[in-house]
Amino acid sequence: MFYRVFVAEPIDAWWQRRQRTRDRAVPYAVGTYRAEWERYPVLIRQYHPDLNSGITLTQIPPAAEVFLVWQCDVGHVFVATPDEQRNRPGGQRRRSVWCPVCAQLANPPRIKPTAPTPPPPRAPRSSRPAREGPAGRLPGDAFWSAAAPKPASAAEADLRQRLALRFEFELDCNAVVVARPFFDRLEVWPDVVIPELRVAIEYDTVGRHGLEHVGPREESDRRKDRALRAVHWEVLRIRCGKLQPIGPYDLTASGVTGRLMDRLSTALGEIRGELIVSAYCRR
Ligand SMILES: [Zn+2]
Repeated sequence: MFYRVFVAEPIDAWWQRRQRTRDRAVPYAVGTYRAEWERYPVLIRQYHPDLNSGITLTQIPPAAEVFLVWQCDVGHVFVATPDEQRNRPGGQRRRSVWCPVCAQLANPPRIKPTAPTPPPPRAPRSSRPAREGPAGRLPGDAFWSAAAPKPASAAEADLRQRLALRFEFELDCNAVVVARPFFDRLEVWPDVVIPELRVAIEYDTVGRHGLEHVGPREESDRRKDRALRAVHWEVLRIRCGKLQPIGPYDLTASGVTGRLMDRLSTALGEIRGELIVSAYCRR
């Protein structure tokens, strides 16, 4: 009897072997397996190139015997092959089935209790830290800050609501930790904070007196954008009225409309990749 045994490899070893067998530095170009992975939006969300030697998911054949590192929405980090991950849900839609740790917490094995056991501690959400000040946070972390001003305009609230209808983003952060003080604080307060994409959205109008975001205010807007980009965030400003774009992804608009939301979705795709953004689309 012959058994053909496939042994999964760590990603570096797998990639190097494919480099040799395919005789090229990049054995699979970015995007090669896009169509195969697109059917698994949860897995696109769980996969991060920085946990996998910088190799993107679309470079990995779904049948590859390779150990990949995944991180669930709650923040558990675990190792699994593409096949194990794609077979995980078994037709179920519950989120917990996509992560072995979550699945275990949702369905603990039945053991005859010998003593009362405390409930398992809830893992902190990596994208939504506890609601305290910036103490202990790292530059680039998003959080909820009590110091941030309350949302000012109805348009801003409308924008946030329309985003929540389109995307499964955690939109309850209102601050990002920056590396250098901005107006004496190590935090900035964008109008909308999308931790999943590390994108901040600003909704700019000249205000009732025509003085907002112009003159010296524009310079502080630009400083704020630089502070965010320095911690690897991107900024997209929606510029209303006569305000001109000041950043590469800014959109001019007359107000919050369905058409603006379409343009915004496209711009988010340009910033972080359409595949990533579509993985957060509600369907
Ligand atoms: Zn989990």
